[in-house]
Amino acid sequence: MTGIHVLDKTTNETRTIKADGLFIEIGTVPNSNLVKGLVDMDQQGQIITDRNQMTSLPGLFAAGDVTDQPHKQIIISAAEGAKAALQAHTYLNHQTKEAHHATTLER
Ligand SMILES: Cc1cc2nc3c(=O)[nH]c(=O)nc-3n(C[C@H](O)[C@H](O)[C@H](O)COP(=O)(O)OP(=O)(O)OC[C@H]3O[C@@H](n4cnc5c(N)ncnc54)[C@H](O)[C@@H]3O)c2cc1C
Repeated sequence: MTGIHVLDKTTNETRTIKADGLFIEIGTVPNSNLVKGLVDMDQQGQIITDRNQMTSLPGLFAAGDVTDQPHKQIIISAAEGAKAALQAHTYLNHQTKEAHHATTLER
């Protein structure tokens, strides 16, 4: 290659940049709109989680690239997904036990 033609979408102007090679970087914007306003996010729109993958909304867990955890890699996302699932199970068990305890006390 000898260069690329680029279009500035704001000004609608085109120009040519001379270059011998090209590295394309994609996927840097977190797709977190689904829970916007529901959970705390950092300035980049990444969902903030604690070490158990819990978000600021109790019972809602997040994992992978969409979180504020560093190192966006497949193995890390998969591990966080496993952690989130296990923690969700623990959370639900705890809720059930608390509900059962409250019912027993009421009797
Ligand atoms: C070009 C590129 C190269 C990479 N190379 C490597 C590499 O060599 N090795 C490596 O380990 N990692 C690599 N990565 C990083 C790796 O791809 C990510 O870390 C990993 O895929 C993150 O997994 P994830 O499940 O968190 O997110 P994703 O894989 O992005 O999965 C999220 C899924 O959720 C879906 N989704 C989004 N919004 C909604 C919604 N509202 N409703 C329903 N579904 C929704 C999306 O369609 C998508 O299928 C690369 C990334 C890029 C962009």
